[in-house]
Formats: sequence, C-alpha cells, structure tokens
Amino acid sequence: MPHDTIIIGAGHNALVTAFYLAKAGRKPLVLERRPVVGGCATSEEFAPGYRSATLAHTLGPIRPSIVRDMQLERRGVTFVHPEPRLVSLAPDGRALVFSIDPARTAEAIRPFSSKDATKYPEFCATLGRVAGFLSELLDMTPPSIDSPSAGVLWELLKTGRRFRSLGKRESFALLRWGPMAVADLVAEWFETDLLQATVAARAIHGTAMGPWSAGTGALLLLSAAIDPAPGGSSVSAVGGPGVVTRAMADAAREAGAEIRTGASVRHLLVTDGAVTGVALADGSEIAASMVVSGADPRTTLLGLIDPVELEPDFLMRIRNYRCPGTVAKLNFALTALPAFRGITGDPAAMLRGRLHVGPGIDYLERAFDASKYGETSASPYLDVAFPSIVDPSMAPSGRHVMSVHMQYAPFKRRSGTWNGQEHTLADIVLRTLATYAPGITSLVEHRQVITPLDLEQIYGLSGGHIHHGELALDQLFTMRPTLGWADYRTPIAGLYLCGSGTHPGNGLTGGSGQNAARTILKARRP
Ligand SMILES: Cc1cc2nc3c(=O)[nH]c(=O)nc-3n(C[C@H](O)[C@H](O)[C@H](O)COP(=O)(O)OP(=O)(O)OC[C@H]3O[C@@H](n4cnc5c(N)ncnc54)[C@H](O)[C@@H]3O)c2cc1C
Repeated sequence: MPHDTIIIGAGHNALVTAFYLAKAGRKPLVLERRPVVGGCATSEEFAPGYRSATLAHTLGPIRPSIVRDMQLERRGVTFVHPEPRLVSLAPDGRALVFSIDPARTAEAIRPFSSKDATKYPEFCATLGRVAGFLSELLDMTPPSIDSPSAGVLWELLKTGRRFRSLGKRESFALLRWGPMAVADLVAEWFETDLLQATVAARAIHGTAMGPWSAGTGALLLLSAAIDPAPGGSSVSAVGGPGVVTRAMADAAREAGAEIRTGASVRHLLVTDGAVTGVALADGSEIAASMVVSGADPRTTLLGLIDPVELEPDFLMRIRNYRCPGTVAKLNFALTALPAFRGITGDPAAMLRGRLHVGPGIDYLERAFDASKYGETSASPYLDVAFPSIVDPSMAPSGRHVMSVHMQYAPFKRRSGTWNGQEHTLADIVLRTLATYAPGITSLVEHRQVITPLDLEQIYGLSGGHIHHGELALDQLFTMRPTLGWADYRTPIAGLYLCGSGTHPGNGLTGGSGQNAARTILKARRP
C-alpha cells in the first residue's frame, strides 16, 4: 500500500493522530520500535499468569470525543469509574476515602476535621468552575505569538470573553493559583495534612517538583481541567490501558492506517529543509512527504535529525527543554490482596480505584528533597492500583497484581548507575507499604521493577520523563515544547509532533494526538 505519511511510534497519541489522518483520506504508516503498540499504555504479562498495567495504570481520562470517534467501547473497551475513587492512608491507621459524590467525601473528611468537611464541597465547586474554563484551552492549538492567524485571534477573543464570564471570585482564583506552590494553595482551604497532601499530589505526579515548588498550583489546575475531582482521575479500563491502545490501533487500521511493530526509526531523511522520509534501524528507507512523530521532542529533534538541519537557536531551546525523570514503576504478583490498616469492609470493593501513600505535605516535600541531590526517597510518594480487582483474569484465580508508581527516583543519580538498583527500589516500596499493611512482603510471588533508566532505554522516554518533558509553567501551552513551535509544527517542513511533549500533554487523554491531527489537516488542506 503506498503511504503519504509516516507516524513515528504507536503510543496512544500517535494512534489517535493516525486514526484522524486516515479518516481524512491520508495513508499513514505507523512505525513502532517495540513489539507491541501502546507506548506507556500497555498491559503485559510480567510473571507467569500475571498481567499488569506495565507503566500507566489509570487513564487521563481519554477525551469523550475520541472514545466516540474511535468507537472504543464497541471495540471491547469497558471503562471503569470506580467508587470509591481514591483511598488515602494515614500513619495513625486511619484512611480518608474519596467518593465520586463530594457530599459523601465531605462526610468521610468530618472525623478528621469538621471545618474541612464544610469547606470540601465549596472547594470542589470552585475548582470545577476554574477547571471548566481551562478545559476549553486544552482543545486549542496554542497560538503563534509572533504572527497569530485570524482564526487564532478569534479563538483568543472568545477565551477572553469566557474568562470575563467566570466571575470575579473564580477569575481571581485562576490568576492567583497558577503561580502558587500547591502547598500554599491547599493550606488556604484545608487544615488536615492528609487531605492537603492527597489533593496536592496530583500537582507533582511525574514531575521533578515538590509541593512547595512555585507553579505547582498551575499543575493542579491542569490536572483538574482534565478531571476536576480533587484527587485526580481514577478512571481505568478492564484489562488495563493496553486494552484501550489495542482498540485504538484497530480503529486506526480500520480507518486505513498500517501499523508495523518492531520497526525502529533511526533517523529522518531531510532535503533542503523538508522531510522526505525515514531510515530504519534495519537499514531500509521509506519515503514520505510528511512525518508525524509521537516520540518525545528531544528524541525527535535531537536524536533523529542531523543537527546541521536545525538553526542553532532552535537547537539550543530543545536542548534546554527539561526532561528530569523522577519515577520508577513496580508491578507485584501477590498471593492475596494486602490488608491495609484503616480500610474497613471488603478490600476488593474499597481498592477498585487508586491508593495514595504520601500522608502529609512535609512528607511529600522530603520525598522530593532527596531527588534534588540525586538520591532516591527513602520514604517515597506512592500511587498504587490493583488492576486485577476490576479484571480478575489479570492474575491466577484468587491472586492479584499490584501496580505501584514510585516517586522520587531521580533519573540522574548522585553516584552510580541504575543498573542493579531494582532490589533496593522494591525494598523501599515494600517497606513503605508495610507500615500500612504489615505482612505485605510475604504476599509477593514475583516483581517487575522498571527504573527511570529503563523508561528511557526500553520505552524511549528521554530522561525517563513520564510526560515527555517537565510539566512546568515555562513548558506549557504556547511554550510546549518551545515558544514559537507549540502548534505541532517543527522548523523542518513536513515534520510535525503529536506526542505528550506537545500541548496539552499530561497523561492518557489523547489530547495532543487529536489537536495535532486537526492542526495538520488544516495546514495541509489541498
Ligand atoms: C511509569 C509511568 C506511569 C504513568 N502513569 C500514568 C497514569 O497512571 N495515568 C496517566 O494518565 N498517565 C500516566 N503516565 C503518563 C502517560 O502514560 C504518558 O504521558 C502517555 O502514555 C504518553 O503517550 P504518548 O502517545 O504521547 O507517548 P508514548 O506512550 O511514550 O509513545 C511513544 C512511542 O514512540 C515509540 N518510539 C520512540 N522512538 C521511536 C523510534 N525512533 N522509532 C519508532 N518508535 C519510537 C515508543 O516506543 C513509544 O511506543 C505514566 C507514564 C509512565 C511512564
């Protein structure tokens, strides 16, 4: 089949882009270096009979328009909106349970603080209104600052009008909260340390920042724009995120895209400043007048292009694009569900969503402190899920898988390398969990430890950064990945970006891939 477009990588964003481009009549060829599609969103066997959400365990969630257009539910995806969404563990043996219903959550907060219980619904409502305004920005192609088109100016004007309609209280909150440290933001609302830390955690998830870092307020808002629940999204899919990306691949194929796995792009072919195709690691070359990369900006623009093809100023800006990975991922095969102190009732019913370990603002900040000096947190922030509860077929009968996002494990270590550190990471995680679930270690049959170095080497994430680049005020919206190039174009004619290193990034939503496809189709209209 002749192809007119090559798409690098089969991460969820690239699959979304491939689908929309194919729908519009283009002939995309997707080239993925790994043997499976999905990028960070896969469900793979890691021990005999045990499958887990290899990296990501929850969804952003995926944009509803993508779910509808790609007919993901018809293709076998069952989305799970767990109740409760989140359980947060306290060191004194209590637990804070976050329900879908804010009033119910408020009642769960009451034993900790009646003042916080009263404030919680108001916080949800304010956050929801501000996030509602921001969510429309997520759908936008960030405007070119130098020469905005008439269409972009119109969009900005509409945004200005929406901002004014927010009302004084919310517009003031939006302007003030963004640059703040999320620790200050949550302290203005709540007095309970556990509640403050659980809400603040979404703002530091996957970043090289702690709750006292300036600008983390903006990340809470960004996360809320995708899912306004204060604890963040707990949406998952039966079978894990791999089921979603397999369905996305089916949708892209049905629309006319071809997908090849085990096909690693070694470099881009460029003639007179325009892309003409790609060269693969096996030495073959494939011609195409358009290439869209779902790999991260540093991989694409520094790893796959001869530097002579790019202006020094642009090269410098991409070299300055920060990707400081801080996350390790661990999957455990368990003989039974652990018994966490503070969780009353059936643990399988209580743990359908996420489990938060990071019981105070100072705890989270100390966990971050270690990473500033290249050290792994001795008491880390953990985000835990049990995918086998919503899909028992992921483990042998009666057994379970536990998926643990561990932070902070800095990609750049103060001394030594990540090689051989798997044992230490597993020990730290199990020791931390054992303070809430004594005896958990004896339940472990197998484990898979994915270090930040593995994230770079196996999964292709520069610096091991789970979001394809730091989510920080200077790398968001019109500055993602860099000022002047936030509209999915690159200085190489015909080369576009569509991965998480472009606006809006931030998790499994498909937003970057959908925005990129729309922008490309507009730019390449015959
Ligand atoms: C450990 C971890 C935990 C996470 N947890 C969550 C979570 O719970 N919830 C959430 O919403 N998000 C989470 N995320 C973030 C989320 O998974 C990512 O932001 C998202 O999946 C990125 O999607 P993408 O399509 O942009 O890129 P990716 O999924 O990274 O896909 C890029 C693809 O490009 C391929 N590629 C790279 N270079 C080449 C090349 N030269 N040739 C061919 N192919 C190439 C890669 O192999 C990869 O398949 C997590 C990420 C990680 C790593």
